[in-house]
Amino acid sequence: MSTHHAGTRAEGPIRVWRPPPRNEWQWLRALVTTRHGGSSRAPYDSLNLALSTGDAPQDVEANRALLRRVLGLEQKRWHTLAQVHGERVLEAGQSDVRQADGLWTARPGEVLVIGVADCVPVFLWDARGRRVALLHAGWRGTAAGIVRRGLEKLLEAGASAADVWMAMGPSIGPCCYAVGPEVARHFPEALHTSSEGRTHLDLRRANRRQALAGGVSAAHVLPDPPCTACETNDYFSHRKQGPHTGRQWALAWVRDPGEQQ
Ligand SMILES: [Zn+2]
Repeated sequence: MSTHHAGTRAEGPIRVWRPPPRNEWQWLRALVTTRHGGSSRAPYDSLNLALSTGDAPQDVEANRALLRRVLGLEQKRWHTLAQVHGERVLEAGQSDVRQADGLWTARPGEVLVIGVADCVPVFLWDARGRRVALLHAGWRGTAAGIVRRGLEKLLEAGASAADVWMAMGPSIGPCCYAVGPEVARHFPEALHTSSEGRTHLDLRRANRRQALAGGVSAAHVLPDPPCTACETNDYFSHRKQGPHTGRQWALAWVRDPGEQQ
């Protein structure tokens, strides 16, 4: 358990992780919620944003309303997905399909949302063209190439790979991600590590590889985030806490001019 809250900052009563802000992407907002500041009781304490894992619906709705208010998102359209561990990436607001694991947009007013509790939330953005994609990358989605697909969407929309940046939010690290052969076999051995006789998988590196293979510069991939299973004081972790835990949300949107940073 940690109390130093690496990479997080307070936003009113809640606390969020976010990639370091830079002049090149002042137009972008990207963040992942932590457990702090919500209404849910143990084991969902406290800012659980998922209705699907057994928490009281009124607490989840209160948490979502708090998040909208704190982040100034009440006037925007929120896009959530029925995440299915695949590689489909949709343009927000352009499809009625909800079974997908990635969203992208270039329009202010559309908020991209992914729910996670160990899976990697991947942010890809075109710093020049002001386009952002948010992807849900567990092992299945990673093996299916979700980052490759997300990058393709940005490039099809007119981005140049040289302008694309990548950040991965809090997610299970190779330190805590022991996997069986049925998972490990989907990934090259270069992505395996060994600890106490077990194979561990580095999902962050697997996703970074897809971005680099697509032409993203290694210098444009931001440093690894905290591990959700190591930092259960700050994050929900399915691996560490089992099925009765919450979900944090990763969010990304294009700021309106004049919107608070
Ligand atoms: Zn860990």
